[in-house]
Amino acid sequence: MPKIHSVSVRALAEFATEKGSLFPGGGSYARMKEGVRGHRALQELLPFNWQPELPVSRDLEIDGQILRVHGRADAAFIGDGLVCVLEIKTTVKNPSVILKYDYPAHWAQAEIYAALLCLNHNAAAAQVKLTYARVDGKTNSFTEDYDADTLIRLLMGYARPFMDWIVAVDAGREKTELTLQTLPFPYDTYREGQREMAQAVFRAMKRSGGALIEAPTGIGKTAASLYGALKALGKGCVTAIFYLTARTTGRRAAEDALDRMRKTGLSLRSVTITAKEKCCLLEKVDCMGCPHAIGYYDRRRPALREALAIQRLDADAIRELAVDHELCPFELSLDLSETADVIICDYNYAFDPRVRLKRYFDAKSKAGLLVDEAHNLSDRAREMLSASLSGWRLDILRKQVERTEGADSPMARLMEELLPHLKCDADAEPEANSDLPKALVEAVKRFAEAAGELQSAEPEVRDFIFEAQWFVNVSKRFDTDSYRALLLPRDGFLTARLWCYDPSKHLKRALERVGGAALFSATLAPMYFYAQQLGVDGDNDESLRLESPFPRENLGVYRLAVPVSLRERERTVHAVAQVIHAMTGAHVGNYLACFPSYAYMTQVFRYYRGLYPGDAAVCQQQHMTEVQRMGFIDRFMPAPERSLVAFIVLGGVFAEGVDLPGDRLSGAAIVSTGMPQISFEREKLRELLDDADEGGMDAAYTYPGLRRVLQAAGRVIRTETDRGVVVLMDTRYRQPNYRALLPEHWEVRDVKKLSGLKEALERFWQ
Ligand code: SF4
Repeated sequence: MPKIHSVSVRALAEFATEKGSLFPGGGSYARMKEGVRGHRALQELLPFNWQPELPVSRDLEIDGQILRVHGRADAAFIGDGLVCVLEIKTTVKNPSVILKYDYPAHWAQAEIYAALLCLNHNAAAAQVKLTYARVDGKTNSFTEDYDADTLIRLLMGYARPFMDWIVAVDAGREKTELTLQTLPFPYDTYREGQREMAQAVFRAMKRSGGALIEAPTGIGKTAASLYGALKALGKGCVTAIFYLTARTTGRRAAEDALDRMRKTGLSLRSVTITAKEKCCLLEKVDCMGCPHAIGYYDRRRPALREALAIQRLDADAIRELAVDHELCPFELSLDLSETADVIICDYNYAFDPRVRLKRYFDAKSKAGLLVDEAHNLSDRAREMLSASLSGWRLDILRKQVERTEGADSPMARLMEELLPHLKCDADAEPEANSDLPKALVEAVKRFAEAAGELQSAEPEVRDFIFEAQWFVNVSKRFDTDSYRALLLPRDGFLTARLWCYDPSKHLKRALERVGGAALFSATLAPMYFYAQQLGVDGDNDESLRLESPFPRENLGVYRLAVPVSLRERERTVHAVAQVIHAMTGAHVGNYLACFPSYAYMTQVFRYYRGLYPGDAAVCQQQHMTEVQRMGFIDRFMPAPERSLVAFIVLGGVFAEGVDLPGDRLSGAAIVSTGMPQISFEREKLRELLDDADEGGMDAAYTYPGLRRVLQAAGRVIRTETDRGVVVLMDTRYRQPNYRALLPEHWEVRDVKKLSGLKEALERFWQ
């Protein structure tokens, strides 16, 4: 029995005709929906003997193997010896400006349908009609007549190169499948909790459901989750695995875990997608006119072919390929993701409607998701699903356009028209409304459509146009259950924000569309709250809480009732500095001092330097570059000869996702309960959740704060042999609700005085 390879008509047409350049922007979710509506309107006008949405399929034999070509023609008529095919393409352009052969892929698609129908119905001739339609009903059509022989020649001309490609891709997949069957766990033994975690991941993917897993530091969750998911891939429960992270550090751990499995026999291609800003080959991202974008499709196929032989396609490997073939590395990584078994990337590529990978996340798919550091997902989803437009920024851009293009230029005029909708009185108060500001949305829509046609050369202006387009898209998904319209005044200008305050149902829908998902983190307490927030609280979902594998006596946790609320900070700076000094003085080592805000951290840091000029102390800065961050982390040397204390902010880059094993970190002083700062948005969140009887204070402040505290404390013990201390400073840690949220494996000791802390620390280190 020859092997059957499968391809959709659309994919085959795109493969056969790919050439030309990349363009920024591209289609959007909302436009695709409009496209469906446009299709239906035209299909309803067809004569009765035409068949809309006609399924078409045929097996073609090529060099002893079968290529199954399948699709659904927009409409077709099957006559006596003649077939007619209608292909409809929805466009935002004025259809009358489109020329007959502007889009070869559209013709190829219609020709493939016509050829398949000629073959299936023994027709001798075909008529192909290609219609471009805009949502407002304007259309433009082209017609072409063919004889069947010509169409079949065209079809085989498209199919042969594709067959050559898919055979190479499928050969790699077959090898992967074989090695997955016998893949051993990549370590000699399972750590405590690892087997349960791998099994929970496997179960979730087997039943296409969700698993929420609280896995404390040290369990080895990257290897366990990947192993469970790979076993599900080997059994065909999922077709690809996405390892989704909030930070770059998590991506490296996944790449290394896969490498370890490759050493035990795994053959598998993984691709890491790096943000455009980080992998761009130019000094500054400016895709319009970039040499790596021009002619991209003319050069990409050899690069994709070469990549089939590379198993670990990380940022460096992709950059090398991109340089060799003069291609944009970002776009290349997206293309490579289509044939990879494991895709390692940011949450965006699965959940953000603007950038999510259409092939896996726009419709139902069998992708398996592993969501690392899942405690971040809810906040990130809130941002991905919201849209903001700033009048203040529009005013700056308008002035810029007036200077470069003139006050009478079409772009300046469009901006001028929009600006009054984003202005307000100087004394205006912020508002949160459950109704959509319809007049504003209409004005933004007019601007987005007209400005989009003008194709500005200025990157900032183009960004603003994309934001306006996104604002219009979000307005279409606005509902009172999960959105509020915020009007935020600043110096006479408004920032209009369509704010998704509750992304849980959107996440639930996204997770239901895939072939299974496991969401895990060390900090998911209380679990019922995170299960609801992340959309994994359904009948097809499960929760698992794993114990820490490390001896509890290796961590000393001390609680001091230092008053550090906003009102009391000024008078307790001295006490806080003394506690930090006591911690670093009890044992030579590297330490963290963690604060809820930059302002508070800087205040105590300056005081500390004055009080203890002989102590080695460093302080996190805002907006540090990658190099500065690495330099900061490199200060945490193993076996230090004198103590070092680093002042950092809770929830920042050094308080989460940083791995400092052994004696690179000996302790952390946590000042406050980590509550996020009060803001208009957060207060609204609290009110909305209180109104819904969902514990607004806990959801908006207590839980996010505790999560940041536990993440920072989680830096201290990273391996079985690590020892270290955590010093909690805040009177609120004695309250029952906070006590209940602290990890069960912590043995918290209350300390009343500084001298008591010194003694306790000395005892611990002895
Ligand atoms: S290399 Fe940079 S500027 Fe060029 S297309 Fe890619 S991201 Fe855009």
